[in-house]
Amino acid sequence: MTIEVDVALRRETFSLEVAFTADAGLTALFGRSGSGKTTVIDLIAGLAQPQRGRIVVDGTVLLDTEKGVRVPVHRRRIGCVFQEARLLPHLSVRQNLRFGRLFSRGAGGPSLDAVADLLGIAALLERRPAGLSGGERQRVAIGRALLARPRLLLMDEPLSALDEARKREILPYIERLRDEAGLPIVYVSHSVAEVARLASTVVVLDAGRVAGQGPVDAVLRRADLIPDGAEAGSVLAMTVEGHDAASGLTRLTGPGEGRGLRLDVPLLALPPGRRLNLRLPARDVLLATEAPRGLSARNVLPGRVASLREEGAACLVEVACGEAILLARLTRASALDLGLAEGAPVHAIVKSVALDAGLTPGARIEI
Ligand code: ADP
Ligand code: MG
Repeated sequence: MTIEVDVALRRETFSLEVAFTADAGLTALFGRSGSGKTTVIDLIAGLAQPQRGRIVVDGTVLLDTEKGVRVPVHRRRIGCVFQEARLLPHLSVRQNLRFGRLFSRGAGGPSLDAVADLLGIAALLERRPAGLSGGERQRVAIGRALLARPRLLLMDEPLSALDEARKREILPYIERLRDEAGLPIVYVSHSVAEVARLASTVVVLDAGRVAGQGPVDAVLRRADLIPDGAEAGSVLAMTVEGHDAASGLTRLTGPGEGRGLRLDVPLLALPPGRRLNLRLPARDVLLATEAPRGLSARNVLPGRVASLREEGAACLVEVACGEAILLARLTRASALDLGLAEGAPVHAIVKSVALDAGLTPGARIEI
């Protein structure tokens, strides 16, 4: 399963030239407002036409301007979810979901009940949209899109109209969709926290061009690619190992299968074995040249300096801790005081409360 996008579009005040490929999983289109994210979504959906372009989804050519192929919108089998749920107000949730089914061609695809279960909306089926929370409405909109049996799901800032609590509520469902529905997703966002949590691959757009692309951990460590560089950090694919209710902490191991790293974070309502992309902002990581003693921070991780990069008055240090790479942001003066150099042994210190920032699941979520 791959998606290939290579499009060029010229408007009076804006030109866009974007090429990327994505595999299954969730690909984030990330960039500041006006960088062209929605335009790319419109081009993939067929809602806008590029001057030149080729778009292939899972071997099916949807657009090839050189060969004169332009599959119309309704034949593309692409599901779209926007900032607003756009449900039909006079229909129940069940009828809204069935409305999605109307657009599916042929048999097969998930049942309405399976989709309702996946998205946690089974109890809402007879309700009307007006009585639902914003997060619930968005889950219904996602369900409606899924029932049309799309080959690709496009989501354009689906959480940006929701408050923090509603975002936290819906994120686990998008993770399940990514992991269980087997459907590739292109997801637009300008939030580092959201991208870190959800994306496997990130394509960074800047003024209609691709500024960088790659695996989420590699891209989000690059301060130069992030609109607000101070938000750079590492993303670790961790697994919930267990909980200690007495101390109010959850232990995570990772990243990936190696599981060399252990991190204690404020209690998460996720079952042991659940995987989780954990964002660790560079500004929340301290470095010490010796193992600190008499320190309240829970997580002290021995490692080695992998690279150093100066950025204004700051110094960004990549620290290899086993398989994981953590990013630390220090002042240049501190980096100098510590005598940091490539290969030097260091201890990375992470406050466990720091790990609660950035849309990690709150303790109230049960899924
Ligand atoms: P983003 O989704 O990243 O915020 P958009 O793709 O919406 O960015 O917009 C990219 C640029 O194209 C912006 O400069 C915007 O003003 C312009 N633009 C968007 N839609 C249109 C349109 N229909 N006609 C002309 N210009 C547009
Ligand atoms: Mg947009």
